Amino acid sequence: MEKIIEVKHLSKKFGTHEVLKDIDFTVNKGEVVCVIGSSGSGKSTLLRCVNLLEKLTGGTILYQGDDIMKDTHNVEEYRKHLGMVFQQFNLFNNHDVLSNCMVGQIKVLKRTKEEAEQTALEYLNLVGMAQYIHAKPSQLSGGQKQRVAIARALSMNPDVMLFDEPTSALDPEMVGEVLKVMKDLANLGLTMLVVTHEMGFAKEVANRVVFMDQGVIVEEGTPEEIFNHPKEERTKAFLKRTL
Ligand code: ADP
Ligand code: MG
Repeated sequence: MEKIIEVKHLSKKFGTHEVLKDIDFTVNKGEVVCVIGSSGSGKSTLLRCVNLLEKLTGGTILYQGDDIMKDTHNVEEYRKHLGMVFQQFNLFNNHDVLSNCMVGQIKVLKRTKEEAEQTALEYLNLVGMAQYIHAKPSQLSGGQKQRVAIARALSMNPDVMLFDEPTSALDPEMVGEVLKVMKDLANLGLTMLVVTHEMGFAKEVANRVVFMDQGVIVEEGTPEEIFNHPKEERTKAFLKRTL
C-alpha cells in the first residue's frame, strides 16, 4: 500500500500541557481513517498538526515518504495537497457559493477564472449544490454550508481530505446529507482522515479506526476490531458511553 501521510512520534504541548504524546499512525492512499475519542482527547489538535496549523513540539510527519519538518521543505507546497473541512464551515460570508469555491484556486493554485469556475462547478455538482451557486452562505442551511465547504476543499484537488467533526455543528436532520456526500467521496477512492463522533459512519465507511484518549492512541484497527472486539479497557468504556 502506498503511504500518503505518516505521523511519527508526534508530540504537542501547549505550555506544559502535553496534549499529544508519541502519536504514530499512517494514512495510505485511498483509505478512510476515522479518529474517534472523547472531547478533549486531542483529535482536533492532531488534525491541526497534520496540516501544520499547529507547530509540532516533537516528532515528524512524512508526506509520501518526504519529511516535511526538514528546513528545506516548503510548507505551502505541502498544504496544497491537503483539503480541510471544519466543524464551523469557515465559508467566506461575503462571497457567494461559486466564488467561495474559486478564490483559493485562483489565489493559491494560480488557475484562471475559467478553470476555477469549471472545477468549482464540477464539485458543487458532486455535493448536490450546483443550483445554489449565486446564494450567499447566510441563505443556506447548515448542511448546505457544509456541502459547499466540502466542494471548496475538493476544488483545490487535494490528495487527502481532513475532516474535523464535520457534522457536529449541524441540526440532526442535516447530518445525513453531509455523511452521504462523505460516503460518496470514500467510494470514489478519495484518501480521507476523518475525526468524527458518528460511529455508524466510522463502522460503515472507515478502513481503519483510531481511538484516542488523553493525547494517546489507545488502539487502532478495522471497524470490526474496534467496535466488535475492542482490546483495551478504555476503548470498551468509551464505546459503552457512546453507542
Ligand atoms: P478534541 O478535538 O479531541 O476535543 P482538542 O485537540 O481540541 O481535543 O484539545 C485537546 C486538549 O488540548 C484540550 O485539553 C484542550 O483544552 C487543549 N488545547 C487545544 N487547543 C489549545 C490551545 N490553542 N491552547 C491551549 N490548549 C489547547
Ligand atoms: Mg475537536
